Amino acid sequence: MAKSAVKSQWKSRAVSRLIEAGEMSECEHCGERVKFRAREHYRQVICNVYVDGRWDHVEHFHEHCYTEADLPFGEPID
Ligand SMILES: [Zn+2]
Repeated sequence: MAKSAVKSQWKSRAVSRLIEAGEMSECEHCGERVKFRAREHYRQVICNVYVDGRWDHVEHFHEHCYTEADLPFGEPID
């Protein structure tokens, strides 16, 4: 029997996305707005954080801040 096979689906995970116009989140690492800039296609990392197997909250990071923070929720998925 594979133990904790079900539980592992509910781990925190990170995805990498282009920052969109109107984005109002603050970066968890540097505390600054994750801001859209017209000609610069910055990416952000959005993390769904699970606590004890339940979805808890979402955290946003600038892509470079996420790397600086040492990938707290693992390698981001595109
Ligand atoms: Zn940041």
